[in-house]
Amino acid sequence: MIEFLENLSYIERLFVLLSISLIVWNIEVIYAFKPISDKRKHLFENIKFITLGIPAQLVMGSVLNLSLEFNDKNLFGLIEWFSIKNNWINLIVSFLLLDFFEYIYHIFMHKFRPFWVFHLVHHSEQKLDISTILREHPIETIIRLSFTTLWVLITGVHFWMYVVRQLIQVISNLLAHGNFRLTNNADKIVSLLFVTPNMHHVHHHFKLPHTDSNYGDVLSIWDRLFGTYKKINANHLVFGIDTEMCANKIYDFKTIIMLPFKHLNSKPETINTNE
Ligand SMILES: [Zn+2]
Ligand SMILES: [Zn+2]
Repeated sequence: MIEFLENLSYIERLFVLLSISLIVWNIEVIYAFKPISDKRKHLFENIKFITLGIPAQLVMGSVLNLSLEFNDKNLFGLIEWFSIKNNWINLIVSFLLLDFFEYIYHIFMHKFRPFWVFHLVHHSEQKLDISTILREHPIETIIRLSFTTLWVLITGVHFWMYVVRQLIQVISNLLAHGNFRLTNNADKIVSLLFVTPNMHHVHHHFKLPHTDSNYGDVLSIWDRLFGTYKKINANHLVFGIDTEMCANKIYDFKTIIMLPFKHLNSKPETINTNE
């Protein structure tokens, strides 16, 4: 299995993820929680963000690959210090470590103002669906991949472990942003371990304290352990961010991209989303 994963090319991974995206897209069409009138137009709006971020993805992706190569050659980091011989246990430990660090990263993005102004672009989404995972400011892409590189070096994960993690992570993120919900009973069980759409929808509610809750990436255990888990009645859910929703402001792409810089130049009180 390790050999298979090590030889899995970027194109093959992309193909698997695009096929899964297509399936989830159709589930959204059938079971829409908040129907989106023009889903394709909405998708193309969000594709603009990832397109603008391609140079950042390429540069930072190469740095990340170098750190994975470094780990493969130098046997470095937490995984090596634990010196676990069993590959399955190694995989589980590396997955848990990376997931915990992603949880920490997400808290940084919310609590540290120079990071939050870029992350709010993701939160400015008022029609949540799977295409929302593409909605990331290029500067956030640089911040996120810098942290991922740091986590890779600290944990010492190997390339094949990272590939497994990445496939599960993207599928989990797709489902978490899905415009559909689990039944309350199913959510109670699944969200004991995994981030569900019901759970991530709360994170996209437009007001605090809900925006600052449910930071989990794949696993929900960190939110439960550290007291950041929150629920909300589905009927009360409003997606977006309150500082950008006054008078139903609709922004074009350029305005949204420039939002962080506007906020960086404004006084902190004016961007506090506290009620
Ligand atoms: Zn967030
Ligand atoms: Zn999100």
